[in-house]
Amino acid sequence: MKTSFHMMYSQKEVENRIRELAAQISSDYQNVTEDDPLLALCTLRGAVFFFTDLVRALSVPCEVDFLKVHSYTEGTRPVGAPVFDLGEDIVLKNRHVLIVEDIIDTGATMDAMLDLFRMKDPADIRICSLLDKPDRRLPKYQDTIHADYLGFKIPDQFVIGWGLDYDGKYRLLKDIMYLEFHKD
Ligand code: 5GP
Ligand code: MG
Repeated sequence: MKTSFHMMYSQKEVENRIRELAAQISSDYQNVTEDDPLLALCTLRGAVFFFTDLVRALSVPCEVDFLKVHSYTEGTRPVGAPVFDLGEDIVLKNRHVLIVEDIIDTGATMDAMLDLFRMKDPADIRICSLLDKPDRRLPKYQDTIHADYLGFKIPDQFVIGWGLDYDGKYRLLKDIMYLEFHKD
């Protein structure tokens, strides 16, 4: 199958949006302190570049940690439930948790992650996602899964770049682009 690439958001547009998100998050978390800092959790691997830019632009005390999320895919579509690898167990009890994701699509990954994290008794959990495809959300997640902080709402296109891959490739693209698949 032939693929073509199309620009969706340029590097500059993404950088500007990340600065705005960081300002909004910093303003909303004025109550966190050095003794009770925000805990920003990066979902690897897709969110890694978004995450590092975002947390470095925050002006409130913040700790960082990482978890690996794997969804098995066929082409561009996930198959089966996502698998989480929390490394050495991350302690969330009484923490102000901010999950940082690359993209929310059907909502299944975020729903499973929230279930897992809520069992760990955090003080509160919010979600920051670079991208959201609301048209793809499964009906059962329509009311429950949304980003508290969102970079861009996008149409139902398969996107790459800024950490997002297609078969392991294109993560390092500096712009966010979408792929078009042509039957030949
Ligand atoms: P979910 O359907 O569970 O909300 O999303 C699962 C995962 O599918 C996302 O975290 C992301 O890794 C992947 N995904 C969904 N849409 C896209 C996309 O347009 N591009 C890429 N590269 N990955 C996507
Ligand atoms: Mg992801």
